[in-house]
Amino acid sequence: MTDSTAAGTMRAWSVAAPGPVEGEPLRLVRRPVPVPGDDELLVRVRACGVCRTDLHVTEGDLPARRAGVTPGHEVVGEVAGAGAAVADFTVGDRVGVAWLRRTDGSCAYCRRGAENLCPRSEYTGWDADGGYAEYTTVPAAFAYRLPDAVEDVALAPLLCAGIIGYRALRRAALPPGGRLGLYGFGGSAHLCAQVALAQGATVHVLTRGAPSRRLALDLGAASARDAYDAPPEPLDSAVLFAPVGDLVPVALRALDRGGVLSVAGIHLSDVPALRYETDLFYEKELRSVTSNTRADGREFLDLAARHGVRATTHPYPLSRAPQALRDLKAGRFDGAAVLVNDFT
Ligand SMILES: [Zn+2]
Ligand SMILES: [Zn+2]
Repeated sequence: MTDSTAAGTMRAWSVAAPGPVEGEPLRLVRRPVPVPGDDELLVRVRACGVCRTDLHVTEGDLPARRAGVTPGHEVVGEVAGAGAAVADFTVGDRVGVAWLRRTDGSCAYCRRGAENLCPRSEYTGWDADGGYAEYTTVPAAFAYRLPDAVEDVALAPLLCAGIIGYRALRRAALPPGGRLGLYGFGGSAHLCAQVALAQGATVHVLTRGAPSRRLALDLGAASARDAYDAPPEPLDSAVLFAPVGDLVPVALRALDRGGVLSVAGIHLSDVPALRYETDLFYEKELRSVTSNTRADGREFLDLAARHGVRATTHPYPLSRAPQALRDLKAGRFDGAAVLVNDFT
């Protein structure tokens, strides 16, 4: 397949000078439409979710890996062209572009199926330009095929928040029909809960904030209590979504014998001292979660399509991306912000 897009220019948001989003770290620029590499797709962006990581890239909390990068790694789009070595996609195919952009495929981790740990991995919207633009590129081997049934806006947040939440659920090793505790109930957790419920789990949500607890109960959680409360029954598994290290011993104590706690976040405040007898004995386990593999992504998107998993969303036009980031930072909306391409 060859590139079918006439060479031209496009509008893209660029992190011109990383800094607080209350200023103007993002500039709207005109750039040539990117030319896909041999193994890459050119994707016309239809919608792009706004992830908290985009805020970290834009404000410079994450060190810049590419000057003037375009953020965005929850892209729903359509194939507009491809490099010479791509055979299995056609112009017009609906695809998703996610955080994990490329791995070396050859290191010990990649070879044993743990590509999420690859030391040479690259990320969309950090190492390479992402989806806050009219077009982006993605290695074809890292693009996801997307189900037709779900609309663009509801699908976009599944590509990061959803996939990471699913990886965290798998790391928590929930037994069939098991009792699951979710600590914190934001974008990732509310998608994780839907998958667990569809698979027959009993879900207990432990989070501050009455609106989040109400959403949890609406989605089918068996109980919703404050983050530091004990759940109504011991847990087989728990996932910590809140970036609060103080909750680690709280969640470990809520586990039944042999229970597993996985920590979903990249950042966590310091974990206080643990007491071996109450927090770890009886073979309780504490696990971290690092990125995801493509297999996690495919499995999750398949489950999400089958069970009708939907994100609660808040759309913005792509032309107002800086406002979406400011509102995210200020906590001005529930659910996930999604940018809709209003340029083309
Ligand atoms: Zn590798
Ligand atoms: Zn993300």
